[in-house]
Amino acid sequence: MKRRPIMAGNWKMNMLVSEAEALVKGLKSGLDGAEEVDVVVAPPFPSLYSVGKALSGSSIALAGQNLHWEVSGAYTGEVSATMLLDVGCKYVIIGHSERRQFFGENDETVNRRVKAALSAGLDPIVCVGEVLEERKSGRTWEVVGRQTREGLEGISKGDAERLVLAYEPVWAIGTGETATPEQVQEVHAKIRGLIGELYDEGIAQGMRIQYGGSVKPDNVRGLMDQPDVDGALVGGASLKVESFLGIVKF
Ligand code: PEP
Repeated sequence: MKRRPIMAGNWKMNMLVSEAEALVKGLKSGLDGAEEVDVVVAPPFPSLYSVGKALSGSSIALAGQNLHWEVSGAYTGEVSATMLLDVGCKYVIIGHSERRQFFGENDETVNRRVKAALSAGLDPIVCVGEVLEERKSGRTWEVVGRQTREGLEGISKGDAERLVLAYEPVWAIGTGETATPEQVQEVHAKIRGLIGELYDEGIAQGMRIQYGGSVKPDNVRGLMDQPDVDGALVGGASLKVESFLGIVKF
């Protein structure tokens, strides 16, 4: 069974408001023919509001790149799920490897964020993935399995249906080195198997699992041909209209 593909652009810390508006304008006008795909963009916080407005009337959904688990309060520098919803977000990326590497994110805080997003009504895109050393020492599944299990700890079946998972081997992010379709399929199939154990086969078969790591228009097809790959989380190639549309229209 193939699930509805979901292609998400993670803009990271790129794009001023004017650039962000120009990018979505280009995406909107070039989207014809991509009706079978869910398209998501995740701009940095300062442009969420204006990008949300620019997206109105289009099928492109808005995502935050992170959120805090509290609803409001004295948490300088953080944003809440309610704030993301307020500016029009439908999704939020959680546990991206750059958050884990540079900002102390761990499985427990990922889990808190996932719960906060779900209870507020945002659909989480939960990222998992091993670093190069872990792959080289044969520990890929130990790491990815743990991140998946702990990230989803205590999430009910009903809520699990709203999750999107993103397998992003850290060694393939921003490096130009894509994991091979076979390497990706192997991990995706294991993640789906684990979801089946944690929930049930129906939830496992319905769950969308994206691949992320140097996805480009010229390698997306081979990845999407894999039975357990349901979309891509795209960094660098999502910053240009042509390359992101090339991926969306794989
Ligand atoms: C990412 O940051 O999620 C990512 C996959 O980046 P890139 O496509 O640039 O490797």
